[in-house]
Amino acid sequence: LNKKINNFSDSVIRRMTRIANKYDAINLSQGFPDFDPPVELKESLREVAAGSMHQYAVTWGAPNFRKALAEKQSKFMDLEIDPEKEVVVTCGSTEAMMVAMMTVCSPGDKVVVFSPFYENYAADAILSGAEPIYVNLRPPEFNFDSKELEQALKAGAKALILCNPSNPSGKVFSRKELEIISELVEKYDAFVITDEVYEHIVYPPHQHTYFASLPGMFKRTISCSSLSKTYSITGWRLGYLIAPEEIIDGARQIHDFLTVGAAAPLQEAAVTALNFDDKYYQELEQRYKEKRDFFLKGLDEIGLKYTEPQGAYYILVDISEFNFDSDLEFCEWMIKEIGVAAVPGSSFFKEDVQHLIRFHFAKTEATLEKALSRLEKLP
Ligand code: GLN
Repeated sequence: LNKKINNFSDSVIRRMTRIANKYDAINLSQGFPDFDPPVELKESLREVAAGSMHQYAVTWGAPNFRKALAEKQSKFMDLEIDPEKEVVVTCGSTEAMMVAMMTVCSPGDKVVVFSPFYENYAADAILSGAEPIYVNLRPPEFNFDSKELEQALKAGAKALILCNPSNPSGKVFSRKELEIISELVEKYDAFVITDEVYEHIVYPPHQHTYFASLPGMFKRTISCSSLSKTYSITGWRLGYLIAPEEIIDGARQIHDFLTVGAAAPLQEAAVTALNFDDKYYQELEQRYKEKRDFFLKGLDEIGLKYTEPQGAYYILVDISEFNFDSDLEFCEWMIKEIGVAAVPGSSFFKEDVQHLIRFHFAKTEATLEKALSRLEKLP
């Protein structure tokens, strides 16, 4: 078998979901909602299903989907995105990130990854033949040291992966931090591959700044995102890349042979969501803020320690006080004895960090309440 397989494990996030299902635990590990997408979206899918759009869409994405997407993203990113030349629609941002990596990296190239990081990035780097170089985001604030970042870029990095708002830390990079990154990638001529799937889940006073919107940065940024989190449709697998034409030409070539294209009927149905007005995004943000506040209050009452998330829907909780040998052991015990699943923090860190676990709170208040009442039984 391919030797690269030995350099990464299966996804610990998705493994925890399988264990949670086995023991019928409340699954706060793999981040996805337990509530439905907007009713208009389900209705739109029903109509599309009854129609005749059941064959391949154009490989780069159905024209009307790309048009609606480019309009929506141009508005939020404050850019003029050309749907004909600067967009590729993919099977989730998972494919978008892999395509982005394969588009800019040749075997042996180095890629900067902030740690803690969403576990796909290491696998993406390895599969595309690149070598990840890690730069620490230091808890509890998850700030980076610009000298450490400069060292990593100086080592000849081809690209930097920027997950903002960040999974698993909940960090939202400030404009100032992004400007520091932009100066350094300009100086060392590196691409930036973003993962901005939580772009619309940000808690005030924090604000999301799209890296591509910073002065001069569009030309070196591959913006990856998806509809999964914004419209609660993680199972639809609709993601995309936005970048300048020369990069997109390469990305289209790779995407073409990886998957041919994202599901045509789902693209058609999702146009309805891309046309939602601003109110939808304000309500989404408000809804997640309520979930976050509810969950944090519960954790406070139990006496668990954490860093407050500024965006996304994850929280890293400190389990030092429980004296387990490892975070994995703790998570397995918690599934079986407490009935709640989380992801061991070590799967997100380059360094050997064993005292954190990650919960997600993209759940109804009733589910969160039930999970919290179970967590009260922690010793
Ligand atoms: N982004 C989600 C998480 O971090 C899961 C994504 C996935 O499993 N594809 O839990």
